[in-house]
Amino acid sequence: MLKRSVAVLFISLIWNVAGYARNQENKIFSVRAFVKSSEERNKIANAGIAIDKVFSDSVGFIGTEDEIKKIKSLGFNFKVMELPQRGFDFPSEDKAFHNHTELISALNNIAKQHSEIAQRFSIGKSLEGREIAGIRISGKAKRDSLPTAVFMGGHHAREHLSIEIPLKIAEYLANNYQTNSRIKELLDTREVVIVPMVNPDGAEYDINSDSYKYWRKNRRKNSDGTYGVDLNRNYGKGFGGAGSSSSSSSDTYHGVSAFSEPETQAVRDWVRGRKKATVLLSFHTFSELVLWPFGHTNDEVPSQVDQLVFETMGKKMATWNKYTPQKSSALYLAAGDTTDWAYDELKIFAFTFELSPDSMFSGGFYPGATAIEPTFNANIEPALYLIDKAENPYSALKEGPNDPLQLIP
Ligand SMILES: [Zn+2]
Repeated sequence: MLKRSVAVLFISLIWNVAGYARNQENKIFSVRAFVKSSEERNKIANAGIAIDKVFSDSVGFIGTEDEIKKIKSLGFNFKVMELPQRGFDFPSEDKAFHNHTELISALNNIAKQHSEIAQRFSIGKSLEGREIAGIRISGKAKRDSLPTAVFMGGHHAREHLSIEIPLKIAEYLANNYQTNSRIKELLDTREVVIVPMVNPDGAEYDINSDSYKYWRKNRRKNSDGTYGVDLNRNYGKGFGGAGSSSSSSSDTYHGVSAFSEPETQAVRDWVRGRKKATVLLSFHTFSELVLWPFGHTNDEVPSQVDQLVFETMGKKMATWNKYTPQKSSALYLAAGDTTDWAYDELKIFAFTFELSPDSMFSGGFYPGATAIEPTFNANIEPALYLIDKAENPYSALKEGPNDPLQLIP
């Protein structure tokens, strides 16, 4: 609930080392570091810190004591507040969120109730052996025969809302196929494949005690005894570059090699197999952003027309959800994410949405169950647009205000 995040305890407005000496090793803080430029933002991202929010004068992140020390040693001014450690295993007010078992059963229900259009599948197993589950929805039974839109969520453990939205999209499509001619036409001419929880081990770990853990990564036990690889820094394009960390304790630890993790291997092999996939949307939280490649470099994608397609589609989708549309690296550099890889290797028009809320001050990673419905409502039109554009993403250019038809291949 909103109240929980509002109830954070301000321990200090301005950092004070002397006051921070004791007993802080397991505490988690919301940190606001003041920066003057994108170079300074990149300096923070390059220190292995997972930036959650970019403000005009600062960046915000959820951090540990060590990360706060890092910020201090880099010379940034900042303020911190301690986040509450009391918490719940999806507490009663958050029980609408799905844990792994509940997600599997929700997907099974869709497939059971709509067997004419929906089929369950698995893309593999997580490190700890949990199913990475998916659902395919299409009016045509033959797999990979129609233009395909790929949706994913839950790369990052604490981003539980990013699991609910793709699940709700699946339910919406299945529930409306028979009664809504627009949905029927879309699904009769497209395939939609949805994997809502890419990182089940992390998601379960985040809720497996009486407090949310603000966990981000998977549950890899690294060779030095630390835990976790950042799955959204573990993909192949630009692996190990800016905005990802080689330090295993970092929240943005990229892992020992590209695709070192069973979860990213599973996504890679599954997406590679979707021969007609043309568009992809990976849901994350939070900040209310529509992002497109590249993230690992400030360069635009090599094809000018593709860059225009990204921009046009991204801005169009943002007209519905009112999020801020931009090239990912305009925010800060982040190497090894899903979308850079999917576009670079497979030429899939791949987007990241950072869902609601807009900042850690309005709920952050734990906005409460009341955020699910409005966030879904804001994002169903962008999702339907993306599914529509799966047939030919370049057709987006025909609808732009400056019709650059001569650029359409
Ligand atoms: Zn994320």
